Amino acid sequence: MYIPEFITINQFQLQLWTVFVFIAFVLYLFVVWFEGRKDGFDIEKLFDTAFLGALSAYVFSKILFELSLRSAVVKDIDVEIGSLSVLGAVLGLGFCLIVLSRTWRWSVYRLLDVFSLSVSAFLSLSILSSFLIYKNINGLYASVLFLGQYLILTRFRNSKLKSGFVFSYSIVISVFIVSLLFEEYRSLIFILLLITMSLVNLIFRERKDMTGRPPISQNLLNSLKNVLLSKRKQLKKEQRILDQIDPANDTDRDIDNADPIDEAVLEDTSKEIVDLRRTSADNMQQLVRKALARMRIGNYGICEVCGKPIEEARLRIYPEATTCTEHMGKE
Ligand SMILES: [Zn+2]
Repeated sequence: MYIPEFITINQFQLQLWTVFVFIAFVLYLFVVWFEGRKDGFDIEKLFDTAFLGALSAYVFSKILFELSLRSAVVKDIDVEIGSLSVLGAVLGLGFCLIVLSRTWRWSVYRLLDVFSLSVSAFLSLSILSSFLIYKNINGLYASVLFLGQYLILTRFRNSKLKSGFVFSYSIVISVFIVSLLFEEYRSLIFILLLITMSLVNLIFRERKDMTGRPPISQNLLNSLKNVLLSKRKQLKKEQRILDQIDPANDTDRDIDNADPIDEAVLEDTSKEIVDLRRTSADNMQQLVRKALARMRIGNYGICEVCGKPIEEARLRIYPEATTCTEHMGKE
């Protein structure tokens, strides 16, 4: 049932908890992808964010651990596991997410939500090692609770919970789980610090709601959605037609041997036209898909450049718009 602390392969000793941490890291990446996809994040940038976030968490964690050796204040606040500072890890990841969300004009609340879910999944799996290797039964409870936290929050994200709430709830639940099960990692100042962070996040989130734009009326949104859906249908039809007339797909072109040179020129030209039409259909379809995704997550109709509402008249003419008239062509 239990797993040994280490295995030896050719005189090389492998600590098995590192294997857990590695698999947990893979799970973290998977959840970032799985959750981020739902919000329409650019997947490539999202993976960059995941790696940079982990790196930044590690570096901050090491720095704070070194500081805690020199400063009693830091030592009092922080919780440490081995030679890593938990406070440092939280600050490092948070700092990286805030900076990158500013750089790429992403919603910081959504990004924090995605990453708090992936960290819950990471914790669930890595803490399991304390049960399976070190026979600590609380490790099993914590693992199950973190898994439950992930499953419940991911279930209600984007439906019942507004963006930003998953992050705040995650912090509160995690603090509860850890202080309930791991007495040695209980630090009152650290708990207060985390709870404060979660409240500050909610306050800023609520203020944003109040200062935000008046939402597009539900009627207009529905009619724009219908326009987009029928556009999508139309584009799919266009792609099917292009597949049929693409000379590359023409199976009997070798059999028909009229004039080989004319034939080749004709084929090249029509191939070019088909390719152009296909590229433009692909681009249009991507824009339509993006607009529909933005409707699903509730940031439709906001300029990607300045964050202000896009003019209603512009949306009526061009429902795929992701920028206001002023920032047209700058996306
Ligand atoms: Zn703008």
